[in-house]
Amino acid sequence: MARTILVVEDEPTLRETLAEALSADGFRVTQAGDGRAALERFRADAPDLVLLDLMLPELSGIEVCRIIRAESAVPIVMLTARGSEVDKIVGLELGADDYVTKPFSLRELSARIRAIFRRAEQVASTGGPSIVDLGGVQVDLAGHRVLKDGHEIQLKPKVFELLAFLVRHPRQVLTRDQLLESVWAYDYAGETRTVDVHVHWLRSAIEPDPARPVLVQTIRGVGYVLRPPA
Ligand code: CA
Repeated sequence: MARTILVVEDEPTLRETLAEALSADGFRVTQAGDGRAALERFRADAPDLVLLDLMLPELSGIEVCRIIRAESAVPIVMLTARGSEVDKIVGLELGADDYVTKPFSLRELSARIRAIFRRAEQVASTGGPSIVDLGGVQVDLAGHRVLKDGHEIQLKPKVFELLAFLVRHPRQVLTRDQLLESVWAYDYAGETRTVDVHVHWLRSAIEPDPARPVLVQTIRGVGYVLRPPA
């Protein structure tokens, strides 16, 4: 069954272009031209991915992202015109899975979307133990849940993917670029601050004392390593 992508963009020409390109890629496409309509379409069409412009009438893309994320773990790709680091960090903080900066090529966007669906399939089909114990923290890889001291904690989708990747590579020192490539599927170096920000959120969520991390340790000048308790 074709996957459905909700395209939220107030600029009609760009919206139509995106819709045509994604349809040609074999996706079912549903569209909205403002933030309020986006929420209506989201709830009515249950899309498999949301392509979300940042600057929108009615409700901003950031507000729409926050509301959708409170209701669903659906992948969200933000379209940002400004390309400032602040927008990107804010979008990721609100739980967007990825972002592309306008102007972008349809080929690049299509590659990002395919990468997101591919990762979702990998998570669904990965063998091995589904629940990994990190002391007071249990990571349920198949169920996409994390328990801390027996209580479920909420992680932003990308923070969970980072944790899941670390859990699959315990005691292995990973560079920021490796993490970017594996977790974010970026095909270029750079934006390593994104990794640091997500490690910070992860530590705040799972470390007994986030100021003195013991699970996710920094290897100065290199990157990070997950050290499960012996
Ligand atoms: Ca716009």
